[in-house]
Formats: sequence, C-alpha cells, structure tokens
Amino acid sequence: MKKRPLIAGNWKMYKTASEAVTLVQTLKAAAHTVSNVTIVICPPFTALSEVSKVLNDTSINLGAQNMYCAPEGAFTGEISPTMLKDSGCRYVILGHSERRQYFKEDDILIHEKVKTALKYSIIPIVCVGETLAERDAKKHFDVVKTQFDESIGRLEKEDIAKVVIAYEPVWAIGTGKTATPDQAEQMHSYIRRLLNERYSQEIGSRISILYGGSVKPDNTRSLMEKPNIDGALVGGASLKAESFAQIIQEAQQTYESGNHS
Ligand code: PEP
Repeated sequence: MKKRPLIAGNWKMYKTASEAVTLVQTLKAAAHTVSNVTIVICPPFTALSEVSKVLNDTSINLGAQNMYCAPEGAFTGEISPTMLKDSGCRYVILGHSERRQYFKEDDILIHEKVKTALKYSIIPIVCVGETLAERDAKKHFDVVKTQFDESIGRLEKEDIAKVVIAYEPVWAIGTGKTATPDQAEQMHSYIRRLLNERYSQEIGSRISILYGGSVKPDNTRSLMEKPNIDGALVGGASLKAESFAQIIQEAQQTYESGNHS
C-alpha cells in the first residue's frame, strides 16, 4: 500500500519575508483543492513567523531548513528548537547536503540535531545522499548506509518512527539532472531494507522516504509511482507557486490512481 505522499519545499536562501508571504498566498490558493498530500514548506528563518500567520487557516505545514541542537544558550547565529516551535514550525530539514558541504556538518552533529528535534516534537526530515564521485566509484550504497547508521540508525524505535528520510543524490540537486526513477527506487528500497533490518518491517513500512534532486512537475509522476518513493523534497521548483502546486497535484493524482510499478 502506498502511503499518503509528503511534498516538502526547501526555499533555501531565497525570499525576503514579504516575498515569502506573496508566494505562500499564491500557493495557498493553488493548493486549496489538495486533500491527499501532506504539504510542508521550509522558508528561510526570517520569513517563518510571517508565513506562519498566512498558513494559520490551511493544512500546509511549516518547516525550517536547519536548527541547532540546544534549547538555548551562547551559540551566536544559531536557532533553537523552541524558537522554531514559537515560529510555528512542525518540521525541520536536517543534514541537507549543502549544510554538509558548505558548513561542514557531519553525521555526529546531525544525529544530535535529530535527537533534539524529536525531543521538542519537531519532525526531522533527514537528508542522505552520495556525490557523483562516490556513485561513479560504486560507493553510493556504502555512503548512504554510513550516513543512515550515524545520523539516525542509533535512535530508539519510538523515535525513528517519527523521522522522515530524504534521499537526495548530491549530483541531482539544483543541477537539472534527476536520478532516474529506477536509480531512486533502488536506493529507497535499500534504505527501507536498512530500516526493516535495524528496527522492524512494521516500522520500516511506516517511515516516509522522500526523493530530492531536480524534481519538477514533469518527472513527479514517474518518481511517485515507484513503490518505495513516498514523496519529494523540492528545491528550485518550490520557489514558484505554479510549479510547486503542479508537483503536489501530480503526487495526489498518482496516489489516488493507486499507480505503482
Ligand atoms: C533540495 O534543495 O533539497 C533540492 C532537492 O533542490 P532541487 O530540487 O533544486 O534540486
């Protein structure tokens, strides 16, 4: 049985607060007919509170793009889970490859952040994925296994069940190069197997595994049809209400038609 899809938009470092409000108002109008998709948008920190007000009367969820692993303290420039909750966030993206690459985040820190998010009842969307060099060297499964083991594989059963995983091959992020549905499905079923073996089949089947990497309206359906792809983490195409709404509609239609190959 396919799960209700989850489509999350990562706005990265785009949109001032007023631009974010305009975008979310258009998205709200475009997505009002959607009932079978969990929608999450992750604007920059500075727009969270304003966007939260616009989302008040909708089923669209708010998420952040990062978070520090302490509730408060002398951590200049960081944002805490309590601040995110206060701004209306239910989700947080953790371990995005841009955080790993440009800000040197490692799996140990990501693990601490995941535990903290869960402690404060924020749902972490934890990103894993290999670089092109790692795929070319046929190390992609090993790389993802290590990221899985170290960032989430030591969580207790009741905690892992609340996590969302996003498989994002680094070579497909913002490059226009999508993994083929078969390449993505291969990794998703591998991650599902890790969950089944480490925890249980029941837990493995409950966890949503999203695909991320140049998802667009015209490739959404072929990805969503795959049995282990439960949704998408969308970067560039989430910055325009029209394309993000189309991705959501495609995910809903695929889910409702019960299509999977
Ligand atoms: C992302 O930022 O998580 C992402 C997948 O970006 P894009 O859709 O632009 O490749």
